Amino acid sequence: MPTIKKLTRPQAGPPRPKKDNQGREKPNRHIYDSTQWRKLRDHIRKKEPLCRMCKKDGVRKAAELIDHIIPINYGGDPFDESNLQPLCRTCHSRKSAAEKQSLR
Ligand SMILES: [Zn+2]
Repeated sequence: MPTIKKLTRPQAGPPRPKKDNQGREKPNRHIYDSTQWRKLRDHIRKKEPLCRMCKKDGVRKAAELIDHIIPINYGGDPFDESNLQPLCRTCHSRKSAAEKQSLR
């Protein structure tokens, strides 16, 4: 039987725009999409609804997100409750900025 060869593609495959992996990407998406994460996050939100960093300064501010104290990218455990803290957006971006600084 005749084998019809499809057009051979170059080894590299179809050209794709190169992705910029400089921290903008979300390689941990699978963690944040998991049921385990959602449950854990809800659990912490109920337990500690206020931003932990604001609380240290005596400010009562609602936490908007759950942060990994040791970032996953740095080897932090994504599902360890002791590695998680509720933060408001302001504190979270401050912490992220400080982490980026410490990389240099
Ligand atoms: Zn805060």
